[in-house]
Amino acid sequence: MKVSNNELRRFSKQIILKNVGIAGQKKIFSAKVLVVGIGGLGCPLILYLANSGVGNIGIVDHDKVDITNLNRQVLFSSKDIGKFKAKQAEKIIKSINKKINVFVYKEKINKKNIESILNKFDIICDGTDNFKTRYLINDYCLKNKKILISAAINKFDGQIFKFDFKKKTPCFRCFMPEIPNMEDNCDTEGIISTLAGIAGTIQANEVIKSILSVKDNLLGKILIFNSLKAEFRKVKLPKNPDCIKECTKK
Ligand SMILES: [Zn+2]
Repeated sequence: MKVSNNELRRFSKQIILKNVGIAGQKKIFSAKVLVVGIGGLGCPLILYLANSGVGNIGIVDHDKVDITNLNRQVLFSSKDIGKFKAKQAEKIIKSINKKINVFVYKEKINKKNIESILNKFDIICDGTDNFKTRYLINDYCLKNKKILISAAINKFDGQIFKFDFKKKTPCFRCFMPEIPNMEDNCDTEGIISTLAGIAGTIQANEVIKSILSVKDNLLGKILIFNSLKAEFRKVKLPKNPDCIKECTKK
């Protein structure tokens, strides 16, 4: 892969980093990253992936932009209300860098389509708002040895999980074996806009680190933070011996 002079200049501030270099930037250009859910998390995540030069970005969302999204879904503005999020996101990615290959899935992930959508990507980012989809994505990534970078946000609290199923890591089910009785999401509980920005940006940071194979200290851990107290904590996530068999067999 040849890096043009224009690209050398465009990405010069990261290419000069020891952990990146031209070899690292080429890895970023050829990376295949899927973002499931273009909400509060997906919006900043997509922006940073596109600006960093990630060459292949998949986006999954079946929803249209609603006025209540606009406090935190920073890819959209008033004129986008009623339009499909995935189509708008594609336009923005292309306006940042037309060389990026964008794969648009205007649908909801389910048991039938998950294989055909996720199999084209190496790194899967989960920013969905329901546990059913989270379990589905977890199980697929576990079975197919993908890297899964998940985030969840609620009120002022955020959590980031990172699993590399090529290695012996716990999975999302180890942390939450059953769907909680009350689904907490921002429809019912509320959310501060900046929290979504922080969590989505941390997801993007973890994606870039995975692409560059930077030695990882978030693998198998949860990063928990509270935006009111400005507190970050990293907690080790133990493997649950009673988890599903795909998780415990390794
Ligand atoms: Zn597990």
